[in-house]
Amino acid sequence: MIRYSGSNGIAQLEEFLGMSRSVVGFTGAGISTESGIPDFRSPDSPWKRGTPIPFDLFLRSEEARREAWRRKFALDDLYRGAKPNRGHAALSTLVAGGRMSAIITQNIDGLHQASGVKPEKVIELHGNGTYAICLSCELRHDLARVRMLFEETGAAPRCAACGGIVKSGTISFGQALPESAMRRARERTEACDLFLAVGSSLVVYPAAAFPALAKHRGVRLVILNREPTELDSIADLVIHGEIGDVLSFILERRGPMPKSSIE
Ligand code: NAD
Repeated sequence: MIRYSGSNGIAQLEEFLGMSRSVVGFTGAGISTESGIPDFRSPDSPWKRGTPIPFDLFLRSEEARREAWRRKFALDDLYRGAKPNRGHAALSTLVAGGRMSAIITQNIDGLHQASGVKPEKVIELHGNGTYAICLSCELRHDLARVRMLFEETGAAPRCAACGGIVKSGTISFGQALPESAMRRARERTEACDLFLAVGSSLVVYPAAAFPALAKHRGVRLVILNREPTELDSIADLVIHGEIGDVLSFILERRGPMPKSSIE
């Protein structure tokens, strides 16, 4: 493992990118802090306010559902208008150039798609908080309408089509991760030759199993984060730095690195 905090690490990452045909990006809450959305583990994280509401309690209890919606809308108010930042833009450029085959993300903020990455290239392991979904018929519901109904009636919303329980599109504690996202993430991880983990403490499983799987399959593993992570010891390169600074510097210097230039 090589650990860098300055320009040497950036040069090494540039070299790895230049040698790679298929990069997988893996992102955590750290990529969105520059957009004003705090990460999970920072002191005073708003994501940790209140005891978590596990999925089975959400299913069982109308009051738990109401509390989950109250918290959801309070968080939405804090980050309304958050826009993709330099880190999102850099990864989006790598995807557009064909160098990055997919972005596996633990984030629920939809900012990779907002930065221009096609939805089919974003693999969301923990769902997406920008819409709601019926747990029975899987119909998507517009959040603004769900909120309006909730505020008007005070009742946790039900699906207009089938009467099922409506929930934010995110995955709760105790809720199974989406099977198709897990399968696609595994396929991409097994097929790539560089795995770039950005802005994650790499402690949340099963998500953190993907960088470990990449390494196990002989894929080069790079970790970019401002502080040490759980998987630094198995990485080929660890860069301790600010995501926006590091990724935008590389992209500005090297340009989008279209795939055709390496074939
Ligand atoms: P985490 O909070 O555990 O780790 C984030 C890491 O990013 C930290 O180690 C932090 O030091 C680093 N970091 C923060 N800003 C950075 C920057 N600008 N440059 C470099 N490093 C930076 O987050 P996680 O590993 O993603 O796990 C948290 C869980 O919470 C995930 O499941 C995620 O779904 C959820 N979450 C999502 C969001 C979001 O969608 N934006 C926000 C908070 C939490």
